[in-house]
Amino acid sequence: MRAPLNCNSWLAQLRRIVPELSPAEALARQVDGALLIDIRDDAERAAGTAANALGLSRGFLELRIEQLQADRDHPIVLLCGQGQRSLLAAESLQRLGYRQVSSIAGGFDRWKAEGLPVTTSTLDTDATERYMRQLRLPQVGEKGQAALAAASVAILGAGGLGAPAALYLAAAGVGRLTLIDDDKVERSNLHRQVIHADARVGMSKTESARIALHALNPRVRIQMHTERLDAGNAERLLTGHDLIIDGADNFPTRYLLAAASRRLRIPMIYGAVERFSGQLSVFDPRREDSPCYRCLFPAAPAAADAPNCSEAGVLGVLPGMVGLLQATEALKLILGLGEPLIGQLLSFDALDMRFHKTRLSRDPACPGCAANP
Ligand SMILES: [Zn+2]
Repeated sequence: MRAPLNCNSWLAQLRRIVPELSPAEALARQVDGALLIDIRDDAERAAGTAANALGLSRGFLELRIEQLQADRDHPIVLLCGQGQRSLLAAESLQRLGYRQVSSIAGGFDRWKAEGLPVTTSTLDTDATERYMRQLRLPQVGEKGQAALAAASVAILGAGGLGAPAALYLAAAGVGRLTLIDDDKVERSNLHRQVIHADARVGMSKTESARIALHALNPRVRIQMHTERLDAGNAERLLTGHDLIIDGADNFPTRYLLAAASRRLRIPMIYGAVERFSGQLSVFDPRREDSPCYRCLFPAAPAAADAPNCSEAGVLGVLPGMVGLLQATEALKLILGLGEPLIGQLLSFDALDMRFHKTRLSRDPACPGCAANP
């Protein structure tokens, strides 16, 4: 009977069946088209990896390699810290039928020591793949993606406006979304609130939305507050967020939200719909020149002049359009892109598909933001 293997004798055996490359040879292979995979953990790779290496942690290697490279004859080069884990991993890929797997002797330590190209990436494979199309935008890139991951957005209402905004913000990788809504899903919501589903009628909207958002992007942290925003809880629910998406459907809630946004100095992205028209603006209390919601609506109109969707009716796509415009403004603010809709009111009419912007100035007598209202 043979003596049981210890770690060193096992590694020695592996060296006989797995070709080892110097870092320089590995780089040359990579230039020739070999797939270079850094199999260290996400946390190790965050401090730097070989340039253009793909990050795929050892624990997921066998499970995901076929998605990355189905061709068993494609050359694959594995990189770890010192060249041992990559030997173990290479043998495992050989068992899966990969015929051209090699391991980098000395690992990333030697790669760095020999002065070969290194990048510091904070993105793991999942993030790189998931956000690939927006990472390609030079205006976003890894820096923008990190800003999105660090951002937190409070969404008031998981309904007509909040739902589409939440879907796209989650998809884009906003790190934390807070949903505030005390309603339950009704069948009559579904023609416009497509985050919900027929099977979830009767469930709280926050939970129903959480299920959909988690299914879309499990990386996003979803916080739920299944309660109605009121004067007593507004500050507690909104504190600590970078932005507020206003998906309220009534004036009292909007006034409450606007007041909290000013007190907490959090920009509020306002949107509203009625029948076939919608409007949008951004109120940024951090900016001296920014009007507030009450510069636009100093007093609530009579209920008869401001019917909500359930009374007036609305074409289902309308809140979707406005919610997506709100999400667009949110992404612009987080990424510092373009001109946010501050001091401007965007209105559109879906029937003649006309959009127009009007200037919105700060009202010196505004009950919301004047020095002495
Ligand atoms: Zn104002």
